[in-house]
Amino acid sequence: MEHLSSYADDRLVVGCIYCHGDTDTREHVPSRILLDEPYPENLPVLPACARCNQGFSLDEEYFACLIECARTGGVDSVERPKIRRILQESPSLAARITKARTVADDGEIVFKTEDDRVRRVVLKLARGHAVYELDEQKSEAPSHVMVVPLHTLAPHAREHFEKPPTPSAWPEVGTRALQRVAISMVGTPAVLDSDWIEVQEGQYRYFAIAEDAVMVRFVVGEYLACEVIWGLDED
Ligand SMILES: [Zn+2]
Repeated sequence: MEHLSSYADDRLVVGCIYCHGDTDTREHVPSRILLDEPYPENLPVLPACARCNQGFSLDEEYFACLIECARTGGVDSVERPKIRRILQESPSLAARITKARTVADDGEIVFKTEDDRVRRVVLKLARGHAVYELDEQKSEAPSHVMVVPLHTLAPHAREHFEKPPTPSAWPEVGTRALQRVAISMVGTPAVLDSDWIEVQEGQYRYFAIAEDAVMVRFVVGEYLACEVIWGLDED
């Protein structure tokens, strides 16, 4: 990945990006459990506290394993070596995911997810992207969260999801979002044609924009589509 420094980091982002407390560690956003080795260079890194960092780790383990199982059909079909290792070392997690798996009458495999855990991880990832790209530190609850398997989106919804809205104004001075605009104008391919930032092909892509609202969309494992918005007026 292109390494972009944010001039605003020290000015706007205070303390741990999740709880604003003292920082004693750094967080990769997205977390490395969602990526395979070798890791891309210059992964986004943000300040965090150890308590938040550790507090998310079990949820993230569940989240990463669930997505890989849902994507491949089950615990026995997992392809990512890292996830296979985690499931071997944690039979209780493997058993939980297996228990959540049902096969519908039409043969479709459905996983009953632990929604609170999924939501915690999705929010954490969205908060990290909002800080890294936009210098927007969002501690409040978002106004909208969508988490849905990509393939279940209807064609028009999929088209809408894949196309980032065109901002009516340029991003804030000093943010990474503005630097990405500047770089794409001089021709260095820092972003995909579609304006998605690809962290690792097939594993993780995202974008974040701020206008009246702050919107983050990301896709995990080319399987799970997530959208988080802060500041949207609900009708
Ligand atoms: Zn914290």
